[in-house]
Amino acid sequence: MNPSISAEATLTRGPLDDAKAQLAQAVAQLDVSEGVHRMLATSRREMAVAVPLRRDDGSIAVYEGFRVQHNFSRGPAKGGLRFSTAVDLDEVRALAMWMTWKCALVDVPYGGAKGGVAIEPREHSLGELERVTRRYTSEILPIIGPDMDIPAPDIGTDERTMAWIMDTYSASKGHTVPGVVTGKPIALGGSLGRASATSRGVAHVALLAMASRGLDPARTSAAVQGFGKVGRDAARFLQEAGVTVVAVSDVDGAVINERGLDVTGLAAHVEAAGSVRGFEGADDLDRDALLTLDVDVLVPAALEGVITEDNAAQVRASIVVEGANGPTTQAADEILTDRDVLVVPDILANAGGVIVSYFEWVQSNQAYQWRESEVNDRLAERMTNAWHAVVEHAGAHRITYREAATALAVRRVIEAHDLRGLYP
Ligand code: NAD
Repeated sequence: MNPSISAEATLTRGPLDDAKAQLAQAVAQLDVSEGVHRMLATSRREMAVAVPLRRDDGSIAVYEGFRVQHNFSRGPAKGGLRFSTAVDLDEVRALAMWMTWKCALVDVPYGGAKGGVAIEPREHSLGELERVTRRYTSEILPIIGPDMDIPAPDIGTDERTMAWIMDTYSASKGHTVPGVVTGKPIALGGSLGRASATSRGVAHVALLAMASRGLDPARTSAAVQGFGKVGRDAARFLQEAGVTVVAVSDVDGAVINERGLDVTGLAAHVEAAGSVRGFEGADDLDRDALLTLDVDVLVPAALEGVITEDNAAQVRASIVVEGANGPTTQAADEILTDRDVLVVPDILANAGGVIVSYFEWVQSNQAYQWRESEVNDRLAERMTNAWHAVVEHAGAHRITYREAATALAVRRVIEAHDLRGLYP
């Protein structure tokens, strides 16, 4: 192994360091040349753009935007678009690399990508968000497309954002191109079941993990960090499966009810009040105290780097299901593993989103719509297959589920790379 790669990989300072350390672990198990390791540790293409915005008051603001395409060996790049002030190039690089592994693990024919604009969406009107989205899209237009790179919603973006991207891209081409994004509104060719697919997959593997640890859902408690597109429906699906969801949080705070939250009522409260705080059917709780509650299952579904070496020893859940990308730092992961906490890694746990994004892309490219039951059945089948592959590989090699998932994925990407060869 190249010493500079391994040295970099052992210094865990941020998501990119964690992603590189995970890659280094996978590479150590596989027979990978130094050159191929270096290729896999490097994005194939990166674009940094300025996104000027004419604000509603006539002033002009300028935001940083990025699109990173980590790998194309298995197909076009695929990954979400994030609007958050925490966005920077290294975060986007890490998220793009994780997308490559996720797509390979669940065997969808994509490489990984990610995009971001360093903006706080809650501080902007709808008109401003539309102008930012359209300008960002026009800046990255040369490198996206249904056969090149297909964005989807992520933190701070939603189906409306995808509609604006699709429209901006289509206007430049002179005809409608629905396959340029996934997570679109149904009326524009979005897939039935896409909006809740990530959450459905999270709940699906959470139930498989509970079964593997002998936990009966009816006697199992859970806490969910984040009540956005992933967390809200993950809490709902877990509750529908009989799990007692005792606490959830968002950026503004957390709520707890030991007897179980009314997740549907809470969603209505958030719709009206903008936050989980102050929900009548629960008590307010310190936001970050949720992570160390005495529950069986913890679902971090907000952002990366929340379970760290500072709080990992206090996590009391016996199962952590990573709804978010990169919620557990590398140092925290080691602490949880030593404590026999079962961590279902992000590239497996939240892969339901990209699986149904793939189904949406197939439907968009064929101008055909599948039944929702068909989408959900195929999603469940792929999640179950990926779960069993990871469990089997982890057992055979006596490694963690994260190490197994990453190794399986990296092996698939290398196989594709080897078959294609290095150009020229
Ligand atoms: P979102 O913007 O819809 O929701 C994010 C939620 O997290 C919000 O409720 C926000 O208030 C909350 N939050 C932010 N900071 C918090 C904090 N410090 N503590 C508690 N809550 C906090 O975003 P999303 O699409 O639900 O994405 C959440 C995570 O899931 C991200 O890591 C994303 O990359 C990942 N993910 C999303 C999808 C998808 O299909 N949307 C797919 C795979 C992975």
